[in-house]
Formats: sequence, C-alpha cells, structure tokens
Amino acid sequence: MERILDGQAALITGSTSGIGLGIARLFAEAGARVMLNGFGRAEEIAAARAGIGALMGVAEAPYSPADMAKPAEVRAMVAAAEAAFGRLDILVNNAGIQFVSPVQDFPEEKWDAILAINLSSNFHAIKAALPGMLGRRYGRIINIASAHGLVASPFKTAYVAAKHGVVGLTKSVALEIAETPITCNAICPGFVRTPLAEAQVKPLAEKHGVSEEVALKQHLLAKQPSKRWIEVEEVARMALYLAGPGSGGVNGAALSVDGGWLAA
Ligand code: NAD
Repeated sequence: MERILDGQAALITGSTSGIGLGIARLFAEAGARVMLNGFGRAEEIAAARAGIGALMGVAEAPYSPADMAKPAEVRAMVAAAEAAFGRLDILVNNAGIQFVSPVQDFPEEKWDAILAINLSSNFHAIKAALPGMLGRRYGRIINIASAHGLVASPFKTAYVAAKHGVVGLTKSVALEIAETPITCNAICPGFVRTPLAEAQVKPLAEKHGVSEEVALKQHLLAKQPSKRWIEVEEVARMALYLAGPGSGGVNGAALSVDGGWLAA
C-alpha cells in the first residue's frame, strides 16, 4: 500500500464497526494516525484499537467514547483528537443508525436520535474541526451519507431526511471553504455488507415469508442493479481517494458507491 497519508492525523466517527472500521484500517495502512470512536463491547473496542494501533506502529490507536447524539461530547472528541495528534487533517463523519417504520408509527425518540447522530453530529464535528484546518490551511472533510441522501425509500423517513441533510450540509460547507485548500465531500453508498445493513435482511424475510437469501436479492437489493453487497473496502477506497493528495479539485460532491442504484 502506497503511504499517501503519511504523517496525517484522522478522526473517524463510528469506527468500531463496519464502514468506519474499514476506513480506519485503510487510512492507517496508508500511513495516517487515526483516532477511533464508537460503541461496542469492551473487548471489541480493545480489538479495534489494537488492530489499528498495530498498523500505526503503536500498542493501541487513540479512542474517544463520545456519543454522537451529544453535541458537547462531539466537540470534546474533536478537541481530544487535536490534543492527541497536535492537529487534525482528516475528519470522517461516519457514525450512523437506522430505524424502519411507517411514518405514522415512527417513534419520536427514534426520529430525534437519527437526526442527532446521522446529521447534527456532522455539523458539530465540522464546526469544531474547521478552525484548526483553516489555521493550517489544509483539511479533508468526508461525510458518509447514503444513496438515501439522494433518493428515498419508504419507511425510512428519519434516515432519508438525515442523509439528504448530510448531502446539503456537505455542499454548503464546500462552498464556504471553496477558495481554501480544504475540501468537504460526501460518499453515498448503496447497501454495504455491515451489521447495520445485514440486520435488515431477517425482518424482510419474515415480513415476506421468504428465505433470507431471497429477501436479500429480491427485496433489500431490489434497487441495487449489481444485485450484490457493496464491500466495506470499496467504500473505504473512495474515502482514501478523497482523503489523499490527488483529490484537491473535488469539493461539494456526493459520490455514489452503489452498484448502479442512482443510474436506474
Ligand atoms: P455499523 O452499525 O456497522 O457501524 C456504525 C458505527 O457507528 C459503529 O461503530 C457504532 O458504534 C457507531 N455509532 C452508532 N451510534 C453512535 C453514537 N451515538 N455515537 C458514536 N458512535 C455511534 O454501520 P455501517 O453500516 O458501517 O454504517 C456506517 C455509516 O454508513 C452510517 O452513517 C450509515 O448510515 C452509512 N451507510 C451504511 C450503508 C450500509 O448499507 N451499511 C449504506 C449507506 C450508508
């Protein structure tokens, strides 16, 4: 692996699992120092810290337990990353949750949680990280949105609203920093093989009275023309491109990694 992020400092939210952990791994392999964040069992977090730490040449990667639903904790996490590394070059807003329900039954606390974690945390982290990036005249902000940031599906009102919000936030920030060497972009994955997406297969199989394999192909991946999961590394590769030195001309983009979903 070419060490295109050598010496750079990155903070990746929701990086104890799935896409965030995959991005952390690839960034560390490319030479970055990475701070992890996210929930999970203590031994899972310890394993993630040790695994990413080994790639960084340290015993364990720095970790923030900040809850992305709490703005003060988001701000403290950014401050902790700047303190740990002396700077913050790359911010990846990735933490996210999902909940599926008809809008008339959608629990209000789920709506509030999804908006807070999937959208507002991005705002709070960007607001906290940008002054340092502007001061050093370098930065890469990468927001993990979704195909659902560009088009909708039924029963996912909070998620679709939040992810459309992430794409809008990305564009607005990009315009504000357009004349600086900082960029702000969104990645819009289709269905990626992670715990968040795999958890949707079983309820679909039960709802339609079919096997999980049939539920996956005919229902979950119905909108994904490739008819296969996107792999975590395929999203991480896009993030690495956006974090790296060759992407300076890309700003305010919402880049699809979705097996053709948005082309249909
Ligand atoms: P995942 O469930 O595997 O990982 C989510 C991560 O976010 C975990 O580390 C979890 O601990 C963390 N997290 C959840 N709530 C948090 C909170 N309040 N504070 C801090 N961390 C929190 O999910 P994933 O599939 O890897 O999803 C990562 C991102 O990618 C999400 O924003 C998701 O919406 C987006 N996405 C996923 C898919 C997919 O198909 N998997 C598709 C499009 C977009």
